[in-house]
Amino acid sequence: MRLSRFFLPILRDVSKDAEIVSHRLMLRAGMIRQEASGIYALLPLGLRVLNKITAIVREEQNRAGGIELLMPTIQSADLWRESGRYDAYGKEMLRIKDRHEREMLFGPTNEEMITEIFRSYVRSYKDLPLNLYHLQWKFRDEVRPRFGLMRGREFLMKDAYSFDVDYEGARHSYNRMFVAYLRTFARMGLRSIPMVADTGPIGGNLSHEFIVLAETGESEVFCHRDYLDFPVPDASVNFEDRAGLQGIVDKWTSLYAATSEKHDKPAFDALPEASKVSARGIEVGHIFYFGTKYSEPMKAVVAGSDGVEKPVHMGSYGIGPTRLIGALIEAFHDDAGILWPDAVAPFNVAILNLKVGDSGTDGASEGLYRDLTAKGLDVLYDDTDNRAGAKFASADLIGVPWQILIGPKSLAEGKVELKCRADGSRELLSPAAALAKLTQ
Ligand code: ATP
Ligand code: MG
Repeated sequence: MRLSRFFLPILRDVSKDAEIVSHRLMLRAGMIRQEASGIYALLPLGLRVLNKITAIVREEQNRAGGIELLMPTIQSADLWRESGRYDAYGKEMLRIKDRHEREMLFGPTNEEMITEIFRSYVRSYKDLPLNLYHLQWKFRDEVRPRFGLMRGREFLMKDAYSFDVDYEGARHSYNRMFVAYLRTFARMGLRSIPMVADTGPIGGNLSHEFIVLAETGESEVFCHRDYLDFPVPDASVNFEDRAGLQGIVDKWTSLYAATSEKHDKPAFDALPEASKVSARGIEVGHIFYFGTKYSEPMKAVVAGSDGVEKPVHMGSYGIGPTRLIGALIEAFHDDAGILWPDAVAPFNVAILNLKVGDSGTDGASEGLYRDLTAKGLDVLYDDTDNRAGAKFASADLIGVPWQILIGPKSLAEGKVELKCRADGSRELLSPAAALAKLTQ
């Protein structure tokens, strides 16, 4: 992408309403634009990051056995009356009427709709287990939308729903998502800690929130320090191996970890002082097993091997990709701007042509731009006529992991400068060596 043709509205000053660093940096870096309270447009740079995040989410859902579909944002109130949640959900639900005065709503979650889809097609235990997921915008009329994308009213969610014949099957489905979540966040560079959590309006009795520790987090959390160093399962983990997955989940739930709603003070106080982490955290994912809470009232039944029909056992599993953009910036920034981990960076490399119009720097910049792009990297080429200082500041602000600085002085010696955004290190090397290093 040539910066001269990109849409990157970088701001010098942002509104005082932006209280936390991730919100400020997203506004300054031209990633988002507020359209109404808690409702944002994703500008091109923000959308690029969101797409990187959702690609990882999809890969890990698919690896764990999830199957993607797409349900609509607008739902019928009748569906929610069947489960009894239409009245229970309260003011967070945006209720609307169509031209025929039919009651509709903008979905805050999809348990009812997926149960309705399931019961329309699935009759037999032979079709189970099943895990269906989608990535879709949700609306919740939050009392206090704040912190930008972190607590929006309209936000993106990956929500998965599992269906099993019995508790044992449902437990395996839960464990699949548990391990998939550990991997998903780790691939983005985030350490998430599964914590015993309250089930809220979703309901159920087994639930973990995946928490990323951050000073600006809205949740108060308590956990054992060892979780910060537990190894995350690698890509070879076998999701069909029930005992193996249960072993991983047992290990990751063996020590104390709870959100404030589920905090057991005496148990936490009994930990050795050095093992206690009492901190704030951001909830990036939340998984639930709720058995037959929806399948019973909504009559989603399957016939078992004995021919007897029973309500199906369900779980649901949410990740907040838009909230994750904020969580990532909270974790990765410095005074100059964002420090994207490569896996979620909007671009992998930025080329800064420090003297546009000079045939030497133009040629070297164009050449590297072509070659890096051909190797499959996302490259932002700063071909604008801005001052060098402004180019440095913008590149640092938007946080592309590698910068290649191309100026006439070093180029006279056949060199360009490669800068690593995360640690600030720089090295002079030939364009060919820079290309080799970035594509190795
Ligand atoms: P919170 O406790 O933060 O209000 P929740 O428990 O109501 O969230 P869930 O129903 O568990 O949320 O939703 C699943 C995931 O969706 C959350 O873990 C979070 O990542 C994301 N999410 C929920 N609410 C919001 C929001 N208002 N803005 C952005 N992401 C959200
Ligand atoms: Mg939650």
